[in-house]
Amino acid sequence: MIYRGRFAPSPTGPLHAGSLVSALASFLDARAHGGRWIVRVEDVDAPRTVPGAADEILATLEHFGMHSDEPPVWQSARGDAYRAAFERLQATGLIYPCGCTRREIADSLVNAHARHATLAYPGTCRTGLHGKPARAWRLRVPDGDAAVVRFVDRWQGAQTQDLATEVGDFALKRADGLWAYQLAVVVDDADAGITHVVRGADLLDSTARQIYLQQCLGVPTPEYLHVPVVNNGIGEKLSKQTGAAPLDRNAPLDELVEAARHLGIEAPAASLETFYSAATAEWAKRFAR
Ligand code: GLU
Repeated sequence: MIYRGRFAPSPTGPLHAGSLVSALASFLDARAHGGRWIVRVEDVDAPRTVPGAADEILATLEHFGMHSDEPPVWQSARGDAYRAAFERLQATGLIYPCGCTRREIADSLVNAHARHATLAYPGTCRTGLHGKPARAWRLRVPDGDAAVVRFVDRWQGAQTQDLATEVGDFALKRADGLWAYQLAVVVDDADAGITHVVRGADLLDSTARQIYLQQCLGVPTPEYLHVPVVNNGIGEKLSKQTGAAPLDRNAPLDELVEAARHLGIEAPAASLETFYSAATAEWAKRFAR
């Protein structure tokens, strides 16, 4: 096996302590396996993209000693690949247009006496648009046992999700015309030959959808490892929305030592080189036997 991993930041702002943990974990896993590590700029969500943020992220990664082994991939340049995958699914009848607004979905869940406040799409438009204009395009998930996706996460252990009851038919093309994250990430991982996905545990919940989509597209499923997310002082996931501070570009080693500690790794801060070799060795003991 030729290990290929990736770090896939969304350029919605500068890197912070939380995104550094994901970057570092994916980098260490690639190094521990003697593999390649590729950066992908996830700018498919154009309205959320902050001008200049992607270049700043790439510069910070370089400055912190994490160099992409191949030129970074930009999602904004990959529309043709997403369209081709979408059309393949369309040809097999697996996707359908949906005219529901968020409000209508919420209302129909209440009407169905949905006991759990999950946002599983109830499949209203499976049988047609009922005279409404098409908004999003959804992928049909199977019913019954076939909807249950199981996988073993290398950090979090055995996972199970019932796509039918916990997620419902999910959007591949959004109401605003943009490709959905789930489609983009699956097509990108497949085209880049990614064998191992290492990322934050906030995405654990998306993994079953991605595995199902891989099966629909006939592409391999990578190994997954989801690292614990970094929370702020009041238990919220660190993000730009919760006021995460950008990384201190003047103190890369301090920031890296802190990120490693979050992963349960103590590594010396003498130089970037000694830090990375010690951290890689520690990671390898746990995750690359
Ligand atoms: N772009 C996503 C994020 O920054 C990560 C997606 C992924 O790793 O699959 O949260």
